[in-house]
Amino acid sequence: MKFNEAVKLYFNRAADQLELTDDMRALLLTPKREVQVQIAVEMDNGDLRTLLGYRVQHDNARGPMKGGLRFHHEVDLDEVRSLASLMTWKTAVVNIPYGGAKGGIAVDVTKLSKRELERITRKFIDEIHEIIGPDTDIPAPDMGTNPEVMAWIMNQHNKYHGFNPGVVTGKPVEHYGIPGRSEATGRGVGILALKTLGRLGHKPQATRVAIQGFGNVGSHAALFLQSAQCKIVAISDVSGGYYRAEGINISEALEHAAKHKSSLAGYTEADHISNEQLLELDVEMLVPAALGGVITKDNAARIRAPLIIEAANAPVLADADDLLAAQGTTILPDILANAGGVTVSYFEWVQNRQYYQWNLDRVRQELDHVLSSAFEEVWELSRRNEISLRTAAFMLGIGRVSRATISAGIT
Ligand code: NAD
Repeated sequence: MKFNEAVKLYFNRAADQLELTDDMRALLLTPKREVQVQIAVEMDNGDLRTLLGYRVQHDNARGPMKGGLRFHHEVDLDEVRSLASLMTWKTAVVNIPYGGAKGGIAVDVTKLSKRELERITRKFIDEIHEIIGPDTDIPAPDMGTNPEVMAWIMNQHNKYHGFNPGVVTGKPVEHYGIPGRSEATGRGVGILALKTLGRLGHKPQATRVAIQGFGNVGSHAALFLQSAQCKIVAISDVSGGYYRAEGINISEALEHAAKHKSSLAGYTEADHISNEQLLELDVEMLVPAALGGVITKDNAARIRAPLIIEAANAPVLADADDLLAAQGTTILPDILANAGGVTVSYFEWVQNRQYYQWNLDRVRQELDHVLSSAFEEVWELSRRNEISLRTAAFMLGIGRVSRATISAGIT
């Protein structure tokens, strides 16, 4: 099943619970605006390249639209559209006053020089500056973009509309960004994983964890969970998996990666396994934090972890989701599990609007509060209605958006 079909399936399961009419479903599923633009740029060697850029603004019933910009050669309108709708439900689940959007450029950033990347980014903003802004649509980093790209976006947008740092989040801390943004998604994964363990009656000390992906999200989740006394027995990245039954020292693994171009390749303190083997380990908790679509109907029966925390977007495909539910696996869904990033992006936007710098303690405290409240609501809804945490999370998000839509008046 394709990603966009899965999103629609999850939407409809929640909409059934909410008894939404077909008319309301059509309204909520249809993006408010989809924009495709031409980005014509001169490359360093003098060649002219024409790229396609997208911004899909899905819904603004609860506030300005919010969502990342993905620069990746596989970006297309279908994918951007589905991701935009997920942002609407995600911001609603954690109850921050935003709608959802997503954008991107179909380009392989690994083949660009920094100057080319900057020219492409600025050209893209030239094309979409009128439809983004601190009160309308606020982009953020995603795959292939980073804080520096966000700084260029702010700078380019401000040339047209005057100084306003709140037009984009995920900026460098020294350039109107917020402390704690880079750790936010992984830390949020850790906070929510502990909450779920608590509700399932498991102690962190008795929890063995396998984490796929050791980038921004996976490494921060690993650090957080280790400091909470979970035993991280396996980690991985694109170079493969690393397993140690007695537990891996995450700080040492991070030091190794820092010295080897962010790679775990050559890490000898653990046994080398494959990424596929990591997913099938005998552990209490599995945290896929790399790619989407890694748990499918083909390997679902071999997944032994009774708890999966979806740190990546859509790591469990829809048909695997049903098989795992049948075998009693608890899945904390992506729209809640990885919402720490957009939550701290929201704090950055608030900080920018207040012209008041938050400190790390405050960011962490408020992140904990927002995610914990959302978790309790999703958990209770799931128990009360005897539905999965995924359907409960979608139900909570979609319910909030539909009520806001009706309150505002549709005529
Ligand atoms: P990242 O680029 O920092 O790290 C990705 C990690 O995955 C790296 O360790 C990389 O080596 C590994 N990886 C890549 N290909 C792999 C493969 N084939 N097998 C195993 N590992 C592989 O990315 P990130 O920011 O940590 O994001 C990870 C996931 O979380 C993505 O799905 C992303 O969409 C999602 N996510 C990220 C954020 C955020 O704030 N960074 C927010 C929400 C969701």
